Amino acid sequence: MHRRSFCKSTLAVGIAAALPGCSRKAAPIDVGSTINALTGDGHELSIATTAVQELNDALQGDVLLPDDGGYDAARKVWNGMFDKRPALVAQCHSNDDVVKAVSFAQERSLLVSVKGGGHSFPGKSTCNGGIMIDLSRMYSTDVDVDNLTIRVDGGALLGHIDTAAQPYNLGTTTGIVSHTGVGGFTLGGGYGRTDRFMGLAIDNLLAANIVTANGETLRASADENPDLFWAIRGGGGNFGVATEFEFRLHPFSSTIYGGDAVFKLDAQFLRLYGELAATLPVEASIEPQISTGADGSSVVNLQLCYCGDLAVGEKVMAPVLKIAKPLSADIGAMDYSVFQTGADAYLGHGKQYYLKSGLITEIVPELAEIIVDHMGREKPVGSWMQHLGGVPASVAPDAMAYSHRNALLNLGIMVVSEDPATMDESIANARAFYQDAAPYTNGFYTNLNEDTDRKTWGNYGENYPRLVAAKDKYDPGNLFRLNANIKPSA
Ligand SMILES: Cc1cc2nc3c(=O)[nH]c(=O)nc-3n(C[C@H](O)[C@H](O)[C@H](O)COP(=O)(O)OP(=O)(O)OC[C@H]3O[C@@H](n4cnc5c(N)ncnc54)[C@H](O)[C@@H]3O)c2cc1C
Repeated sequence: MHRRSFCKSTLAVGIAAALPGCSRKAAPIDVGSTINALTGDGHELSIATTAVQELNDALQGDVLLPDDGGYDAARKVWNGMFDKRPALVAQCHSNDDVVKAVSFAQERSLLVSVKGGGHSFPGKSTCNGGIMIDLSRMYSTDVDVDNLTIRVDGGALLGHIDTAAQPYNLGTTTGIVSHTGVGGFTLGGGYGRTDRFMGLAIDNLLAANIVTANGETLRASADENPDLFWAIRGGGGNFGVATEFEFRLHPFSSTIYGGDAVFKLDAQFLRLYGELAATLPVEASIEPQISTGADGSSVVNLQLCYCGDLAVGEKVMAPVLKIAKPLSADIGAMDYSVFQTGADAYLGHGKQYYLKSGLITEIVPELAEIIVDHMGREKPVGSWMQHLGGVPASVAPDAMAYSHRNALLNLGIMVVSEDPATMDESIANARAFYQDAAPYTNGFYTNLNEDTDRKTWGNYGENYPRLVAAKDKYDPGNLFRLNANIKPSA
């Protein structure tokens, strides 16, 4: 018997439980009854369990219901603030599975959440009462060394790309935490330490396979469905489920020149940092993480990363160490993967997280003072910046949905806690910090969006009408609404 069908046989569940890698139901679906669910508009819905069983039988993967083993693990997302219970989870193993899960949802107007890496700060990849389309089993990658491309499944994590490409001395832009999902990361833009010379993830995206609301699989590229290709590069998961991405790879040595230098925080340091960030060559990225040191004073841990010749890197980074006298510095040749996984544990799964972000073109004195003021308060939240500019800034703002091409830095204001009881106060502090900083920002990164309709349309600026046109064409019923939502016009 084929092993997978053996695993899925309800008669065989007891035996299958002993087989590693078999996902199975804790109990056979009780066909002949119904399960309660919600439509996208929030109306109650009964789904016949026979239909659920049929979906389960049709999938290569599994459908998990609340009583099933594996349901609780599958429904979990990274941010512990969101503990939601989908009516069912479709654990997809292939594009075909995604087509079936999407069609199942579309036929019933079922609320849909799509889980890639599950790292949405506002918890958009889970839902109460809907179907979670879980892509976490779809994480394979294929490097094409001759054509300098990598094919990546829609549920892969950023670490899968780095580990697949680096043995060939190749790379493409990924973010700073390896367990973040490629799906959400890419569809919103994709910032990382290499974006200043490689471009954002969307600048390297050559094509994607998208399962749209009507269950069709469309190839989106410069030549095929170019309007869809334009929209998915910054428009998030609004237009369908991306089951596969193809990215351009760049020659890339995984030994970089970089490390950490710790400085005392003051407004002058931030201003000089901002000036240097605007003038460094594109191979250099300098990103501050601002926190409270052991003695209660505010410190900046500046992460330096130069991708290229190590001796050149040393020269390029020398002025950084002259901004102020470092309290400590650990800089030299290092493995890029150390950087790329260094924050994995601190930003681990299941803690409570809250984030505000704003894009800035320069650190004006007023903004520097605001940051110092808020970091010096009795219960400060953390803040950090991602270094942009370079190649991303050379792309026209209307070349794709993502429009924030003039940003030099992305300012993040973040709460991390293991104690839910502290969150209300910390969130209020983060909001107060953001409110003061907001006048010096120009839009925000959609991937870090708390999302209200007004903010979403305002943030896309002149690109918004074109996004609505794509939404009208590919998802007129707004099946894919758990994202920074582009509302269809009807
Ligand atoms: C710890 C951490 C570090 C981060 N670091 C960076 C960084 O360095 N650079 C950066 O640019 N961003 C970074 N981010 C932000 C990150 O890009 C977003 O949180 C992104 O949405 C995560 O994608 P995901 O697939 O893990 O999330 P999910 O929660 O699975 O999905 C997020 C959104 O995208 C949709 N989605 C996900 N996959 C697909 C798919 N295959 N098809 C269609 N829709 C999909 C979901 O439905 C949801 O709306 C970070 C986030 C975290 C939590």
